[in-house]
Amino acid sequence: MTEKACSECHRLVEDAQECPIDKNNDLRSNWSGIAVVYDVEDSEIADRLEITTPGRYAIKVR
Ligand SMILES: [Zn+2]
Repeated sequence: MTEKACSECHRLVEDAQECPIDKNNDLRSNWSGIAVVYDVEDSEIADRLEITTPGRYAIKVR
């Protein structure tokens, strides 16, 4: 699996060394579950994970 998840915002990042949102370079390969957020204003999961930018996110990051 080439995708990694940002330890801060859980954003899934592919082929990059840092998160495009918060520039965090602590990317974890040990994550599970995918949440796809299209509309952050009207998404329960975005609210729960404190997501502010649409995209794909890991549910759990270890
Ligand atoms: Zn991030």
